Order: sequence, then structure tokens, then C-alpha cells
Amino acid sequence: MQPLQITIIGGGFCGAITAVNLLRDNTQSLHINIINKGNPIARGVAYSPNSSSLLLNVPSGKMSAFPDEPDHFVNWLKKQPEFRGIANEDLADGFAPRELYGNYLTHLWQEALKTREQNSVLTVYEDYAYNVVEADDRYYIYLKNNPVLASDVVVLATGNALPRLPSGVPVAFSMGPKYFGDPWTIDSIGKLDPGGDVLIIGNGLTMADTVVALVEAGFKNTIYTVSPHGYNINIFKENKAPYEDRDTGSLQLNNSGLSGLLATLNKHRRSAQASESSAYLIVDSLRPYTQQIWLSFSLEEKRLFLKYLRHLWGSARHRLPANTHNLIAGLYATDQLITYKGKVVKVIDDDDLVLVTLDCGGELKLLTVQRIINCTGPESNPKLSSNALLRTLAASGLICADDLGMGIKANPSDGCIISLSGEHKPNLFTIGSNLKGILWESTAVPELSVQAKNLAALLAEKARLHQLDSQMLKTQGTEKQNIVSLG
Ligand SMILES: Cc1cc2nc3c(=O)[nH]c(=O)nc-3n(C[C@H](O)[C@H](O)[C@H](O)COP(=O)(O)OP(=O)(O)OC[C@H]3O[C@@H](n4cnc5c(N)ncnc54)[C@H](O)[C@@H]3O)c2cc1C
Repeated sequence: MQPLQITIIGGGFCGAITAVNLLRDNTQSLHINIINKGNPIARGVAYSPNSSSLLLNVPSGKMSAFPDEPDHFVNWLKKQPEFRGIANEDLADGFAPRELYGNYLTHLWQEALKTREQNSVLTVYEDYAYNVVEADDRYYIYLKNNPVLASDVVVLATGNALPRLPSGVPVAFSMGPKYFGDPWTIDSIGKLDPGGDVLIIGNGLTMADTVVALVEAGFKNTIYTVSPHGYNINIFKENKAPYEDRDTGSLQLNNSGLSGLLATLNKHRRSAQASESSAYLIVDSLRPYTQQIWLSFSLEEKRLFLKYLRHLWGSARHRLPANTHNLIAGLYATDQLITYKGKVVKVIDDDDLVLVTLDCGGELKLLTVQRIINCTGPESNPKLSSNALLRTLAASGLICADDLGMGIKANPSDGCIISLSGEHKPNLFTIGSNLKGILWESTAVPELSVQAKNLAALLAEKARLHQLDSQMLKTQGTEKQNIVSLG
């Protein structure tokens, strides 16, 4: 009797923790394939940092891989030699190193392998999946270096694709050695000329990570950054009393659309200002409801939000731990870090150097740098993705971009994919940042851990039904045989 074959493409947090949940909670035999290429299993891009001093950007208390056990990460942290003896609340409020979080995920992965049901099979292919084809109610997954895999269910857990090429940067230049399109590889901060400056395009958390990594690597020259809104990342916890007067009832779903939400937020922001307390808690308190609020918006409201409020929301929501924030403030104070509000309009590759022209609100600035690092954030539109698998699937129509072009079109409740022809594919799922356009908040562990748990429960149920079906078919087969032999 063949168990249900489940293939997960992508073995970062989402793919690995879905499998861990399946192996942890399931009592029947399973056959899981994980296809993962590019980053270590479970750690993915985020938790294989290119600097050991990079910290999580979410407090440890919110980083449990299991939503039903919110203290799971903090309890694990407490057992690590460097954190022994620290009170739980302090650990929960702190920001652990990302590398250490990667160790936590590796530990969970290894534990799940050890304790899995004896009948369950888990095969990891360190390989790249470049196509998935649907035929006869099954999926056929094409791998670069292995034979085609047949599977009943496929999960696209492909994670963060590379940022798109910023406007003003010529394609020919992007192919050369002075352009770093993948800000998460060690190469982007390696082999630096001590005499030249660096330009980072983008001013979000990836820029902050890259600056920290450059400084840690001993880079002493000027780091320029550019983006339309400039640098606007706030500190995670302000040195102010938290805003206590938040009426969470009215902050949560009042179904009053974008304008109602804005009015409520503004009311609370003014009240926080008047009491000189930190308004960030208002945004933080919305986090568990953000997906619901997003789903309640009309398409037009979502577009308006993206056009006018995305940046403001991002700077209130994605904040930096105090250490990193202070380090960056120190670099600004000494002019080692200089930020421009503007965009790149011209790039000239001139022997060892790159001449860059920025347009800063009509004023042109000329920079001479040794390299450009693209930190503009992952491209999530499957049609434009650096991930060839997603581009191929979008071209074949098995998947399509959501209405906002921010991810894959899928059911908000379970990530079940909706094809280009509008067909719901009951055995094809996606998880994580591919659901950004559908759920908006589909980026970090607090929501991804919930998605992984729910998807695992759904797949376990499918496996159970599959087993029942197989048993019934077997019984019917035996009965038929008995009748035949009696006859
Ligand atoms: C630098 C960085 C730091 C972050 N820090 C935090 C943080 O502190 N806290 C937080 O909550 N969130 C953080 N995040 C958000 C992060 O995206 C999630 O926490 C989570 O790691 C995402 O996991 P994932 O599995 O969706 O994606 P990924 O980690 O990107 O994993 C996907 C994996 O699939 C592989 N893959 C993709 N396509 C294929 C294919 N076709 N064939 C084979 N393999 C494939 C990729 O190579 C990769 O290994 C961070 C993100 C980044 C990029």
C-alpha cells in the first residue's frame, strides 16, 4: 500500500517546519520528499547569515517554530551555554543572533528525523526543481540532477527570490563583477578594495544587515545608500513608556475599510504623541489581525495602501534591535554611512570603478564606487522571479500572479493554488512569501509558523484519507478475488 507522496519544493523555514510538523504529529506512515538547493536545510537564506553578529529582527519570545508552544524557542535558548541563568522575560524580549536561530531550526529538523514514525520515509534531494507538470491527477517534478519524481501533492515553499534589477542599472552591468544582485551571499561583502566606496540600493532591513556585515568585515570606507524615501528604520523599543491607552477592540477588525483603519490609527497615534508614549505598540498590536484586515480591503483599497502607505507601514513595522540601530546611528554620525533620497539614473562601468549618477529630487549627485549591492528586497511576482521554477510554472499557467502581482494566486485560508484558468488545485499548495499579495503579512516566523502548522495538519488529513481509500480498494480487491475463486 503506497502512502500519499508529498513533495515540498524548498527546504527553508517554511518547507522544513511543515515537514517537521508532519513528522512530529502524525501517527501514520508518510512519504515526504524535500527538494532544496542553495541554502542549508531548515536554515534557508535568513538563518545562514553572512555575519555572526546579525540579530533576529523579531524578539525571541515571538520566534517559536510552533505556535501552540509559544515558549519553545525561549526554552531552547535557555539551555544554550551563553544564555543560561538569564530570566525568561529578558530572553523573550531580546534579539538572539540569527545564526543561533539557525541552530535551533537544525536541532528541530534532526529531532524530527530521529523521532519520526518508523514507516515514514523522508527523502531530501539536494537538487533544483525546474518544472512541475500535472498529469493523471499526479504531479511530475523535474529535477536538474535526478530522475523525474512523481507525487500526489506538491508544496511550493520556494521562499525569498532575489531582488529585481533596480531601474537605472543596465542589464549588461548587472552581469559583471561589480554588481551584487544577491545581498545575502558572503560574496556581496567579500574581496573589497580597501580604497573604494560602496553603494547600496535600498534602505530597509537588508541594507542594515549589509552595513553591519561590511563593518564587521573591517570595511572602513564610505557606504552610500539610496532609495526614494531614504533611511527611515526605527528602533524596535523606544526609550519611552509604551502606549497603554490602546483600545485594541477598535484597533482590530472594525471592517471600516482603509479609511476607517487610518482614522483609528491616527486617533491612537495622536493620543500616544500627547502622552509622550511609544506609538509602535499600536502597529505591533495589529500584527495578529493584519491578514484579516488585508483580506477585508477591496482591491482598490489594497492598491491605495501599496501606493501611499506601504513605506510608512514598513518603517513602523520593520524595526531594528537597539544594538544595530545604534551602530547605524554611529556610522551616520561619522559620515561613514551616507544616505540619499532618490534613484539611480546612470551607471558607467569605468575599469576598476563604477560611476553612478543619482537623481535626488531633481538634484544630480555623482558617486564613484567599487561595487553596487542590490538590497531592494525580494521580488515576489512569480513571472519576474529569479527562481526559474516559478517563471516556468507561471508561463505554463499552473500558477499565476495574484491580482496585485505580489505573489502566487492562492486560497487565503490554506495556500491552495489557483491556476491561470481559475481552477483550484486541491493538491498543489504554496506557503510563505509567495502568499504576500494574498495575505500581505506572510513574511516572518510569527505568521509562517502558523501556516506551516495548518498546512501540515491539512496534509496529514489527506494522507489519512489516502490510506483509507487504499485500504478500501485492497479490501474490495480481496473480496472480488474471493468471489472469483468461489465462483
Ligand atoms: C536576510 C533575512 C533575514 C530575516 N530575518 C528574519 C527574522 O529575524 N525573523 C523573522 O521572523 N523573519 C525573518 N526573515 C523572514 C524570513 O523570510 C522567514 O523567517 C523565513 O526564513 C522564510 O523561510 P522560507 O522557507 O519561506 O524561505 P527561504 O528561507 O528562502 O527558503 C527557501 C528555500 O528553497 C530553496 N528553493 C527555492 N526554489 C527552489 C527550487 N526550485 N528547487 C530547489 N530548492 C529551491 C531556496 O534555495 C531556499 O533554500 C528574514 C528574511 C531574510 C531574507
